[in-house]
Amino acid sequence: MPYSTEELLSRARAAFIGLAVGDALGAPAEFLTRGEIRDKYGVLKEMVGGGWLRLKPGQVTDDTQMALCIARAIAECRGWSPTGIADNLAAWLKSKPIDVGDTCRRGIRNYMLKGTMETAPNQWDGGNGAAMRMMPVGLFTLGDSTLLESCTLQQAHLTHNNALSDAACICLGRMLHLALAGRSMTSMRREADQLIAQFPNFSFDPYKGLATGYVVDTVQTVFHCFFRSRSFESCLIETVNQGGDADTTGAIVGVLAGAYFGEEAIPARWLKKLDKKLVAEINDLSESLVRLSPYLNGKAS
Ligand code: MN
Ligand code: MN
Repeated sequence: MPYSTEELLSRARAAFIGLAVGDALGAPAEFLTRGEIRDKYGVLKEMVGGGWLRLKPGQVTDDTQMALCIARAIAECRGWSPTGIADNLAAWLKSKPIDVGDTCRRGIRNYMLKGTMETAPNQWDGGNGAAMRMMPVGLFTLGDSTLLESCTLQQAHLTHNNALSDAACICLGRMLHLALAGRSMTSMRREADQLIAQFPNFSFDPYKGLATGYVVDTVQTVFHCFFRSRSFESCLIETVNQGGDADTTGAIVGVLAGAYFGEEAIPARWLKKLDKKLVAEINDLSESLVRLSPYLNGKAS
């Protein structure tokens, strides 16, 4: 093992906290343009709350909540359980969440009504709803890229069955694996380049400046901001200030930047704004998932 289990667990916690931080930081800017954010906040760098969902400062949205559904299912079942995940998502939808994407709602409802575990392939289901909840799959499958792929597709296809979404989810999972293992940004860039070689739509240089909920735009924004970043803080600020689907680009980039830059790099002023119970649960779940992973169970391939 290249480094201590403690460092790995710390990076895993940072990935999950990073997701919640990006979600809460970006949510007030969701659906705003870059110009609207500039007029309203100058540069958005604090957890101000508000936005179209009228959030409390530090409040998280569907991005964090769906990731929690998956993480809790893995921890409760002490392993991979697609029905456990689907049941948690169904219970979440019934709880009338503050926000839920249309494609996610449809997929979860089809599970509730018909038991559908895999939505039909659809070239139009290219939203970022499956990618935003990838993080727990990355933690749980650490050390086994074949397991990463199979678990990714099962969780993603509950709501999104689309080649671009699938490829993006797997790529984000692989990048998370690299960051958790303490690997370089160059090695993560190689994963991004492989995705782009397969699907040139994901090319992000030059950056087109679109940060919509379309998974291609979302991933371009995440790549553009992550690969130029020098710190967790600057990475998240640059990302959410692109506007558009700012909570989701923030959540996804927060996972990568959290794992890459580490727990100490997460600004205390942001962490303080998050709900304390949520932070405690995230820390517990992150550790449980990594402890269940092949990486820490001698099954790494
Ligand atoms: Mn959201
Ligand atoms: Mn969003």
